[in-house]
Amino acid sequence: MQITEKIITQAEALQPEMVAQRRDFHKYAESGWFEMRTTSIIARKLTELGYEVLTGEDVCDRDARMGVADDATLDKQYERAIAQGADPEFVQATRGGMTGAIGILRCGEGPTVALRFDIDALGVIESQDADHRPFAEGWNSVNPGMMHACGHDGHATVGLGVAKVLMDIKEHLRGTVKLIFQPAEEGVRGAKSIVAKGHLNGVDYLLGTHVTGNTKYPNCMVCPGAKDSLATSKYDVIFHGKSAHAGGSPNGGNNAMLAAATAVLNLQAIPRHGGGATRINVGKLVAGSGRNVICDEAFMEIETRGANTELNTYVENYALRILENAAAMHGCTVEYKLMGAAESLTSDVSLAQRLRKVWEAAGFTLTEEDMMTAGGSEDFSYMMNAVQQQGGQATFFRTLTKLSAGAHNRRFDFDEVFLQNGVKLFCTAVYDLLKTTTK
Ligand SMILES: [Zn+2]
Repeated sequence: MQITEKIITQAEALQPEMVAQRRDFHKYAESGWFEMRTTSIIARKLTELGYEVLTGEDVCDRDARMGVADDATLDKQYERAIAQGADPEFVQATRGGMTGAIGILRCGEGPTVALRFDIDALGVIESQDADHRPFAEGWNSVNPGMMHACGHDGHATVGLGVAKVLMDIKEHLRGTVKLIFQPAEEGVRGAKSIVAKGHLNGVDYLLGTHVTGNTKYPNCMVCPGAKDSLATSKYDVIFHGKSAHAGGSPNGGNNAMLAAATAVLNLQAIPRHGGGATRINVGKLVAGSGRNVICDEAFMEIETRGANTELNTYVENYALRILENAAAMHGCTVEYKLMGAAESLTSDVSLAQRLRKVWEAAGFTLTEEDMMTAGGSEDFSYMMNAVQQQGGQATFFRTLTKLSAGAHNRRFDFDEVFLQNGVKLFCTAVYDLLKTTTK
């Protein structure tokens, strides 16, 4: 029990430093592929702690990244990151949206444990209400339209706390620890590119968590597993037609708006699947240039979801067929681009049950159920499935924490006790999986 006690004491001692770090990440919120300042700080700290550190091209497969902004926007964000105090050495590798960092700790022969911490903010304008704590205390986001409204500032901070504590107990571990600081989780755009780079190959155990609000349980409870998050695909769609004078020669145009409108009605009419939950949504449609012009271009943002990967594939294929045929009906063409995707995920019950015992022994209260149903989608699924397919075990546990508003809300904030709890949970788990002694 000695090491467990050491972990708990250290996590508590780190709390003030972690609160400051979390508020710094919160203030300089950076959304997906713009996490240049955040990445540079993480890489600097991991290096100072003695980790082997990967950044830039070594983290994400460039071509497997989804939903990346254009070069001009990325350059502007790079300048912003530098102006906001990015580490001058480590920021360089992030240029062009090559964000994210991995810290590796080698402790000799033994299993490999990977831990994942997502680091990106959301496209949300943060509240400036007097009772919104980050604003009241002056650490609200200074980057317009970017806000940590999902707690990833906390996840990144926990990752750095975990890095510190594991380094301090490394003589009690055998095997390898990989700390994966993942960019662009929002919009499910980043994890796939880390898997594509091969970082999950040979991983025996994979753990990730999300700070999770709830009304059913008291603060600080833990659910050791998750199941049934939705598989999803996100597409940007552009219909191309031909403009013409609406009075003089309407027959001379190809109406892209008509193609898009035909698609909208048919997309929303895709038959539901008897095998489980499916979803389709057209979330945005922009078309046309003026009253007397046949529309030559229409833009849409759509997403599909399914209770599992197969069900999502059913909706996705149906949707793509509709897009192609709606375009053809009106003599238009269509292009679509995958902007994000996730598979469904299910934690390994045996790992969840093993961690339940570890965490109960460390003083945590666990939920009755081993698996919590995750409502949305999570691209951690790519990492979990990669590990599970090669015979490893993975879990996505939930750290139940008091929230001031729901995730993705502009008034989102969390009880910062989450920071020390996160460090305790990850470190006691790693110690159990890699311990050299049984005491
Ligand atoms: Zn999130």
